[in-house]
Amino acid sequence: MQYTIAVVKGDGIGPEIVSEAMLVLERIGEKFGHSFTWQEVLAGGCSIDAYGVPLTQETIDVCKAADSVLLGAVGGPKWDEVPSDHRPERALLGLRAELGLFANLRPAMMYSQLAAACPIKPEIIGDGFDLVICRELTGDVYFGKHYRSQSTRGWGEMGCDDMNYSVYEVERIARRAFEMARVRRGKVTSVDKANVLETSRVWRETVTRIGTEYPDVALDHMYVDNAAMQLVRNPGQFDVIVTGNLFGDILSDEASMITGSIGMLPSASLNESGRGMYEPIHGSAPDIAGRGIANPIATVLSCAMMLRYSFGLTAEADAIEAAVAATLAAGFRTGDIAAPGEATVGTHAMGEEIRARI
Ligand code: NAD
Repeated sequence: MQYTIAVVKGDGIGPEIVSEAMLVLERIGEKFGHSFTWQEVLAGGCSIDAYGVPLTQETIDVCKAADSVLLGAVGGPKWDEVPSDHRPERALLGLRAELGLFANLRPAMMYSQLAAACPIKPEIIGDGFDLVICRELTGDVYFGKHYRSQSTRGWGEMGCDDMNYSVYEVERIARRAFEMARVRRGKVTSVDKANVLETSRVWRETVTRIGTEYPDVALDHMYVDNAAMQLVRNPGQFDVIVTGNLFGDILSDEASMITGSIGMLPSASLNESGRGMYEPIHGSAPDIAGRGIANPIATVLSCAMMLRYSFGLTAEADAIEAAVAATLAAGFRTGDIAAPGEATVGTHAMGEEIRARI
């Protein structure tokens, strides 16, 4: 098959890690008989430098027309003084909105080879964990009205943010979560705060109703405070966690921290047609940019997600994930995942080792 991929390398380590990931996809193409056409466009700080804005209409058009979008990371200290509506991160919000991305998928798993980096005790981790957080991205308190008012209790000025979720928004993210659980271990945990919030009661009712369409998937519900605790107490109990924008923002960062290695974690953001934007969860790491030492694995694994979730290429995605695991098992480490005193390889060498194992 032939696929067109919009490539947004971005800032900092973005160009270094994305270049390696593109070579991994080329290798997959050779092995499985696919061809990838790359359309490179700017977004973030580099776009501010070139065009004065973080996101141009050309970038939007190229990303919309492509079969998928591969993104590195945007931002850095160079643009810290830029007014907030022109900051590099605005490019991400703009792309998400333009592409209609409503489901953010963030896997968090522990590679047994990196167990030492996991901040949780081995006796708690047991056989490890492999979960995905499915976070709703377009609703919730982030997109309600934000305003100031006067306290009705006579306490002066107050800040207000409207939290809302429509049944439709919950239905579509719930379906995405159940579909994903079907190709994983068949379990969905829906996280809300239904003991307090009306939005959460709508959320729980709706997820429960959609769950009846998926009798082969087990569903349970958990309050967000308990979920935050359970993630560090027994992460192995989770398969797919589905939750709203605010709770998902917090829980997905917590889940990534328990893996102990930010340079390893991929993500996908999907729209209703299943097309999406794929990117590592980490930022542009300006502290190590340009030195050839960044870990490309999160971006490489984001490509595996692209093959799996947007193109339906399961064997190809499996091949990338197996090659990453084999490379780690063979002892190759970038600096961020090396134990003290352990030998390290650079970004390109890590990419080569992964490609050699595909
Ligand atoms: P960061 O994720 O860029 O870096 C945090 C720490 O992790 C740094 O020490 C960095 O060196 C290390 N790190 C991150 N990725 C790594 C990799 N692949 N290999 C090795 N080490 C890695 O977070 P930050 O420092 O808070 O943010 C830096 C910039 O990135 C900021 O401008 C921020 O706004 C931006 N950012 C962008 C995105 C995005 O594009 N999606 C996400 C987060 C932050």
